[in-house]
Amino acid sequence: MELLEQRIIKDGIVKAGNVLKVDSFLNHQIDIDLMNEIGKEFKRIFADVEITKIFTIEASGIAVAAIVAQYFNVPVVFAKKTQSINLDGSVYSTKIQSFTHKRVYDVIVSKKYLSPDDKILVVDDFLANGCAAEGLIELINESGATLQGVGIIIEKGFQDGGKRLREKGIRVESLAIIDAMNDETGEIKFRH
Ligand code: 5GP
Repeated sequence: MELLEQRIIKDGIVKAGNVLKVDSFLNHQIDIDLMNEIGKEFKRIFADVEITKIFTIEASGIAVAAIVAQYFNVPVVFAKKTQSINLDGSVYSTKIQSFTHKRVYDVIVSKKYLSPDDKILVVDDFLANGCAAEGLIELINESGATLQGVGIIIEKGFQDGGKRLREKGIRVESLAIIDAMNDETGEIKFRH
């Protein structure tokens, strides 16, 4: 997506440790006009499949998912990171290794909000090693819902999450794929 790539070049900051900072438009301050274009683009890409819910993970996925969901006219459900899993059987749960915080979170979603009838589009801001997406997919599988695809705003193609998910036959659509980035020069190379 040309508009997104231009914005990443203009405002993205390459940090050490393969981290791209996009705080000025995506992860801290949010450019709503850009988010709307992203929402339209995901709707165009996934127009051929039925979607009943958008599913993401807190915190940074929520804003994106909420705007994308308006173009699909469906609710957003987000998985919650939690300290203590309640054991009353009312939630699906899994563990997710956080890329940015280097720790493992217990992640839950209420059984009320994912059901076997649901057709799910997973949406997230970044795809790196794929742990977040895989955790969300595990929750979907626990619920018996159908995964229709994964929509990612920025995929770091030099990390192996996208490859792993696609090898499992999962439809992954990323609006920008970065093949290389350099924290010394600031250079970012996109895949086309
Ligand atoms: P994964 O689980 O695929 O390794 O990483 C995806 C998650 O980590 C995303 O939910 C995102 O919040 C965070 N993340 C991964 N890489 C980056 C990055 O380069 N920059 C930012 N801002 N977040 C990232």
